[in-house]
Amino acid sequence: MTNKLIYLDNNATTKVDERVLEAMMPYFKEEYANPSSMYDFSRKSSNAIKEARGVIKDFVNAKDEKEIIFTSCGSESASTAIRGVLNYDRNKKHIITTKVEHPCVLNLYQTLEKQGYSVDYIGVDSNGELNLEELEAAVKDDTALVSVMWANNENGVINPIGRISEIIKSKNKDTKFFVDAVQAAGKIPIDVQANGIDLLGISGHKFHAPKGIGALYINSKTMITPLIAGGHQERGKRAGTENTPYIAGIAKAAELAVDGLQYEATEIKRLRDKLESNIINKIYNARLNTSVANRVPNTTNIGFEYIEGELILLHLSDLGICASSGSACTSGSLEPSHVLRAMNVPFTAIHGSIRWSLSRFTTEDEIDFVIEKLPAIIDKVTAISPYQKELQALKELRK
Ligand code: PLP
Repeated sequence: MTNKLIYLDNNATTKVDERVLEAMMPYFKEEYANPSSMYDFSRKSSNAIKEARGVIKDFVNAKDEKEIIFTSCGSESASTAIRGVLNYDRNKKHIITTKVEHPCVLNLYQTLEKQGYSVDYIGVDSNGELNLEELEAAVKDDTALVSVMWANNENGVINPIGRISEIIKSKNKDTKFFVDAVQAAGKIPIDVQANGIDLLGISGHKFHAPKGIGALYINSKTMITPLIAGGHQERGKRAGTENTPYIAGIAKAAELAVDGLQYEATEIKRLRDKLESNIINKIYNARLNTSVANRVPNTTNIGFEYIEGELILLHLSDLGICASSGSACTSGSLEPSHVLRAMNVPFTAIHGSIRWSLSRFTTEDEIDFVIEKLPAIIDKVTAISPYQKELQALKELRK
């Protein structure tokens, strides 16, 4: 392959920023001490962790840095929060989530269901927006926990987290609220206090830190039973020697993300909108799977009717273009995405849906290249579709 790489799959993972790598290096090389040790040599690594905790506290606007623990990833943050709350108080057996959560929440809820929890999965409309009346009706006296993602990984839709918290707390002030903010962090401002959040998870590799580091906010009024037993690290909430270089890395990435929020909201959004409108206007069988304005600025999800997404991805890949036909975790199989199914995306478009996700490293030239090359790829794939009659009718309709 001779083409330059055009990486438009930033909701799957992101490139590590050079400045993040630089911030991590001393803790691999010279400052490798165990931060819990007593000698002077460990001071730099324990200070780095203290500083990083302060940065993440500010990143999510927590009240106190004691409310932040470091984890290995977004999935661990979600499991620690959900299992942690339920294991601490085993009396309440009702929990609520949405039909469009990431598998790290959905699969855990399904396991909990088998273990005796009663679960409500709240639906979304055709734009991917959560049914708040259904959510309100679901909260009961014995609801231990509600888990709602801040932004969806497949369609980018942002949930009204503050409003959702009000709904939950007005029905049951003791119900805990966990927010999976993995796809929101670095793309929009995060404020746990302003939004009434009890627990919130983030993952470094979605905002230019490496894979293998995440964080969890647990407010001071929320108790959890830890998932990992062992030493006293993370105030007893997550045992295991702290991963100093990665902790320094996620903190640097968070600082850079805050500095870049304005760029996300303007420039990345402009490039996303350019890509989106050009595809929709140039390709007759393209269908925007959600058009809501309230989306993270980097994401669009477009269905190409009557054709296979995997074939489109292969042709894109030949040109060095990376996108995704669903979330990274589901694209290994041909199962249609659970998010698009919950949105009732017509079956004619669901298999041909492509998620495009940009980052601060995406350039205008790259977007122009995709806009130039995509129509011919779609033509090629459309030519071998068994649905020629339907495609002809669609062409007439959209002329
Ligand atoms: N939550 C959401 C919304 C995600 O998109 C992802 C990853 O794609 C995760 C959680 C899991 O994060 P990690 O890969 O860090 O475990």
